[in-house]
Amino acid sequence: MAQRLIIAGGGLSGVLTALAFADRPDVSVTLLEAGERLGGAHTWSFYATDLDAPGTRLVDPLVAHSWPGYDVRFRGLSRTLSTPYRSITAQSLDRAARQRLGERVRLGTSVTGLDAGGATLGDGTRVEGEAVIDARGPTRLAGLALRHQVFLGQEVRLAAPHGLTRPTIMDATVEQLDGYRFVYLLPFTADTLLVEDTYYTDQPALDRATVAARIAGYAAGRGWRVTEVIREEAGSLPLVLGGDARALWVDAAPDGGAVPIGLRAGLFHPVTSYSLPVAVETALMLGAMPGPVTTARVSERVGDLVRRHVARTAYERLLNRMLFLAGRPEDRHLVLERFHRLPQPLIERFYAGRMRRSDRLRVLLGKPPVPVAGALRALPERSAG
Ligand SMILES: Cc1cc2nc3c(=O)[nH]c(=O)nc-3n(C[C@H](O)[C@H](O)[C@H](O)COP(=O)(O)OP(=O)(O)OC[C@H]3O[C@@H](n4cnc5c(N)ncnc54)[C@H](O)[C@@H]3O)c2cc1C
Repeated sequence: MAQRLIIAGGGLSGVLTALAFADRPDVSVTLLEAGERLGGAHTWSFYATDLDAPGTRLVDPLVAHSWPGYDVRFRGLSRTLSTPYRSITAQSLDRAARQRLGERVRLGTSVTGLDAGGATLGDGTRVEGEAVIDARGPTRLAGLALRHQVFLGQEVRLAAPHGLTRPTIMDATVEQLDGYRFVYLLPFTADTLLVEDTYYTDQPALDRATVAARIAGYAAGRGWRVTEVIREEAGSLPLVLGGDARALWVDAAPDGGAVPIGLRAGLFHPVTSYSLPVAVETALMLGAMPGPVTTARVSERVGDLVRRHVARTAYERLLNRMLFLAGRPEDRHLVLERFHRLPQPLIERFYAGRMRRSDRLRVLLGKPPVPVAGALRALPERSAG
């Protein structure tokens, strides 16, 4: 008989993992999602170079938009990079995943309790399984010293074409407020685009009205007349300055509990909060695990991945400490500007989480854009507090 795998949470990591198991005759997947569709109100973007061939095969059916490159803009640098960029929308994820998974998806199903043997639902009923995964999104991330990436995005329709042919990943020519600030632009059609105002900041709160007014000001400054705000998406995402893998895992995966994946397991890029590449890695790893698929065996594998991920992202946490602890908040844009002058393959490896030792040295070589004394103070991981 097939093992029953229950996944609570039909967001990015839950959907990818369900898809990775979709063809296995020995595993029957049930994906439980509280909302009325999969994915919520997100746009997930990634660089094509983030994924290897199996990852690309898993994600390709979900992709809604692809561009052959992207721009970055700083006060002292305007650059076009030829790394292809892709976006998944909540609609494209929902459509493709439901088509593939069919009745294995249960929408409008709120999970109130999870343990190693099953899920308790909002109506009091129980779904039993041999393996139970908790993909219900971010939680408190014990053991990690955090700062925040806070943003509001508006998908807008304009009175006339915007003229953009590729995304602007960072337009940091804007006034630097509340830490490092940039505007992110995704041109979806000739007259619609996502305009996201983003802050790398010390506090997690988003003042929605103020940021919405700044988006309107930015659009006006570009000569764009907004005729409609089609939808909004907002986030306050964790940026990691210091990490203790053991404390993180013990808290996120208590004995006898379901196995956490995605953001709640700390599986994201410390500098960007992007989780898509490592969510794909998690899904492919689990989808390829030999049977039997049980909570204990899934937990072993995800626990190992979390420890590996914390170990392999030590350098990215150091970069965050340089960004947040070594210099003044209003100078953070200089660190990012300097980084985006580096060779494109190095930048690609940075975003993909595959930096080489030589890349790491290269990033730190030369005159630092932060005071040397501050940089030295920020070196030890314990300086993150
Ligand atoms: C607006 C926004 C934009 C982002 N953009 C990017 C990006 O471009 N690229 C990138 O790599 N990362 C991006 N991220 C960061 C990160 O990748 C996402 O947050 C990602 O969705 C995290 O995946 P997850 O599976 O951990 O959680 P989520 O995708 O948040 O999924 C959690 C799911 O669980 C469901 N759920 C919660 N509680 C229950 C319950 N009790 N019962 C049943 N279901 C429940 C939720 O409805 C949700 O669907 C973005 C984040 C946000 C907020």
